[in-house]
Amino acid sequence: MQVMFWGTRGSIPVSGSQFVRHGGSTTCLEIRAGGERIVIDCGTGLAQLGKECGGELKDIDIYQTHMHWDHVQGFPFFGPLFNPEASVTVHAVNRQGQSMCDVLNSQMSQPTFPVGLDIIPAALEFDELEQQGVATHGEVTVRWEEVIHPGGSTAYRFEHDDQVIVFSGDVEVQKGCMEELIEFSQGADILIMDSQYFPSEYVNRQGFGHSTPIDAVNVALQAGVKRLVLTHHDPSHDDDKLMEKLELAREYAADSGLLVDNAYDGMLLSAKVSEVVPGNHDEEASLKVSA
Ligand SMILES: [Zn+2]
Ligand SMILES: [Zn+2]
Repeated sequence: MQVMFWGTRGSIPVSGSQFVRHGGSTTCLEIRAGGERIVIDCGTGLAQLGKECGGELKDIDIYQTHMHWDHVQGFPFFGPLFNPEASVTVHAVNRQGQSMCDVLNSQMSQPTFPVGLDIIPAALEFDELEQQGVATHGEVTVRWEEVIHPGGSTAYRFEHDDQVIVFSGDVEVQKGCMEELIEFSQGADILIMDSQYFPSEYVNRQGFGHSTPIDAVNVALQAGVKRLVLTHHDPSHDDDKLMEKLELAREYAADSGLLVDNAYDGMLLSAKVSEVVPGNHDEEASLKVSA
């Protein structure tokens, strides 16, 4: 099982020479396992996924954490939507009485967007999820549950062939879901977690819906996770700042055996920790740290 990161930024996309290492697209990931390719979230990274792999993807499942801007903005620019042979199913929990279909309909209509959902050539389906549940795609099991974030957010757990990858979604564990997320992440090979703020920043941003790298290490250690990947990077954090954040998390996790990396756009990780994917700079660094 592998995870591909297409967008790792929170809040708003960024670009520029100081963001080269980590990239600036907003949240979009892809789980690859047992011949299945499952997408998580429609941030601006989804446009890149469509551009690079659009031709290979015909039957697409997208699991949505929630509907904040940074998680839906890539949808109108997802290439396979314009392929009449493609079918796209979006799985999402309703938020504030609105379904994902309602939200995309209002996003993709005048005066904000010229192409409406009704004239998209691909076959579109919407699956309204309960707040907690389980589904299977081939040999991949997907479990989900609700975590704390303004308006709600879904965490996902993917299981295949004794391997486990967990994605926290946008989450503020200090507001009360720490224990639940630890339980949900038990024994994961990889935990990918929202770590937007330094602890010093979090002091003034309580209630904004995000966690710190220290929170993420605490969850990972208590859940017995092998590798922690920090994501939902703050748009004000350039590459240097993000390396500082990673250092902080690695120091805090020191001697525990936990591998810690920063997610970046274009990163491909295998759930098997020993399998290094060439070109993944942070992964190589973390293996050295742990050696
Ligand atoms: Zn977000
Ligand atoms: Zn959010």
